[in-house]
Parts: sequence; C-alpha cells; structure tokens
Amino acid sequence: MPKIVFYTGAGVSAPSGIPTYRDGKDSLWQKYNAEEVCNYEKLNINRNKIRNFYSLLRNEMKDKEPNIHHKSIAALQQEFKNSNVEVEIFTQNIDLLYEKAGCENITHIHGRIDECKCDDCLEKWKYNGENKCPKCGGSFIRPNITLFGEPAEKYYKLKRTLNWFQNGDILIIQGTYGNVFPISRYLEFLKSNGIRLVTVLNNLEPSPYLPEKHFDYIYFENVITAMPKIIQTIKQNLSNSKQEYSIQITK
Ligand SMILES: [Zn+2]
Repeated sequence: MPKIVFYTGAGVSAPSGIPTYRDGKDSLWQKYNAEEVCNYEKLNINRNKIRNFYSLLRNEMKDKEPNIHHKSIAALQQEFKNSNVEVEIFTQNIDLLYEKAGCENITHIHGRIDECKCDDCLEKWKYNGENKCPKCGGSFIRPNITLFGEPAEKYYKLKRTLNWFQNGDILIIQGTYGNVFPISRYLEFLKSNGIRLVTVLNNLEPSPYLPEKHFDYIYFENVITAMPKIIQTIKQNLSNSKQEYSIQITK
C-alpha cells in the first residue's frame, strides 16, 4: 500500500497567522517567558501560569483558518479515499488547522491545544474550563501539550511509520528544521537498508539537521508557494511507484 507521509512543524501554520515560537512579533511568545510557561521542570511550581498561558493561546488560535497547505492535504486525502494510497500527517503543531481543513489521519506529536490531561490518573479530555479532572477529581491538571524537556509519547508512532516505509513511499518534511526529532538518522538507516523513498523538503532555509543529500526534491520557500509544486511532485511520483507496485503484485 503506497504511503504518503507529511511531517510538519510551525512553518506550515505561520501563514495562517499562528506565530512560530521564535519569530512571533507581538505574539504571546514575546509577552511570556517560554522558560516559565512551557517548561516541564517547572510544571508543578508554575502549573497555574502554564494553564493560563495555554488558555490565552487557545483563544488566539480559535479563529485562525487553514491555508493552502492544510487544504491541499485534505483534498489529497479525499482524492485517494477509495484507493490503496494512504495519506498520513504527523505534526508538531498543537493548533487544529488540519482538522478545520477536513484532514484525517492526523497525529499531533506534541499534543493538542483543545485537550487537557490529568497528571494523577492520566485521563485526557476536551478543554471545558473546569479545573478538576472529570475522572479522579484531582486538580493536577494541565494542557495535553508536550512541554520543553518532556518526552513526547507520540514519537513512537512516527518511528513505527518510518520503520515500515517501503520502496516508493513518499515523505514530505515541511515547516520544521528537524532539530526536535532525528529524522535524518532514519533516512540514513532506510537508505543503508536499500529502501528507496521519495523525499521532499520544504523550509524557508536550509537546516543542519536536515542535510540536503537526503532529499530528492527541495523547496526553500514559503509553504504557500511550494504547496502546489509539492502536490504535483507527489502525484507524479505516485504514478511512477504505482507501476512498481503493480509489478510486485503480478510476480
Ligand atoms: Zn485524574
């Protein structure tokens, strides 16, 4: 089953007005000290500050709309809905722009802005303004978002997907500099094991964490202008790899 996997970060939501952590002028990131409100080690002493910060962020994200990146993936998923092509999204973003665009098969590796979690019983639920866990009644609750210095549990799912890649599968990395997760190491490993992926990179600029030698197609430009080209690239390569798949089946 041919697979198309998107691995994305803040750069894909920035054109929708969701500022990235580092460059958001006038954004909440400038008004609050991230070391205070996003730091796992300070979760217990700063729990209220952290909850307040993410409430503000939730409010700020509420009215933001998906851009061509999110909408193109939704359209791609619709197009391949009744085929054997699977389109999967792994995102570091906590916003819900993929959901708003109508995308499916989304893993929010670092959590979602609309969810809370209980540190006592690990229950998760949709944010409802309450300050108590609906399951155990405890008050050690927090946004269901991975803080700095905290392991992100969902990376196991990305690792599994990477390990199961087959020849001709397509991986698109967009809007992330690759410094959070060592995806290049997986690309190296796959290559050394003879797995030939089609790899696409789209960022504003090169990153030392994503060496260009690992990519077949590179777009150092805004996600808005790159997206139509990327969709075209995906479709071209898919029609090539479909032949490979059908050859494999007839053997
Ligand atoms: Zn609980």
